[in-house]
Amino acid sequence: ESASARELVLSELVTVPDFPEPGIRFRDLTPAFANPHAFRVIVDTLTAKCGAIDAVAGVEARGFLLAAAAAYATDTSLLAIRKKGKLPGSVLTESYDLEYGNDALEISPDHAPPGTRVLLVDDVLATGGTLAAAARLLTRAEYVVAGVGVVLELAELNGRSALPGQDIHAILTL
Ligand code: AMP
Repeated sequence: ESASARELVLSELVTVPDFPEPGIRFRDLTPAFANPHAFRVIVDTLTAKCGAIDAVAGVEARGFLLAAAAAYATDTSLLAIRKKGKLPGSVLTESYDLEYGNDALEISPDHAPPGTRVLLVDDVLATGGTLAAAARLLTRAEYVVAGVGVVLELAELNGRSALPGQDIHAILTL
């Protein structure tokens, strides 16, 4: 099943040169999400590769597409990790570096009990800065990161080094 998940992602992946900026090779996974069979296989593969979980956390915005389906499929809590300034009330905040400047992610704490086992998902693992900040948020909220699942890992950017000790599963590695 893993081989077919990989083949499905590879067959649906669209690479767009110089988007959103010159020099970036943008990997567009929305065609795979638009293919109902591919989307189902992607979600089932991400949830199958981690152990027991109580929740799925997705990173805004494309991670939400995967996290919502994965939480529904596993009948677990859905946790939204949002860009800074979107969540009301008390929030936890973690900054991370981008190619130019930095940004921040936030989570509302107390939506699940301490020790909640969370599968953290996003579409693409590039430098790992985004998922590392997300993992720090989950840890600060007193959850346990049970696994990190992505559809595509860009190996040359060595994002795994930003997530030491994490169980990372990528359906396709380029
Ligand atoms: P990073 O923090 O460098 O691992 O970047 C990860 C985030 O940026 C993910 O949410 C991806 O959706 C997005 N991203 C980074 N590089 C690319 C790329 N080449 N193609 C598509 N999305 C990307």
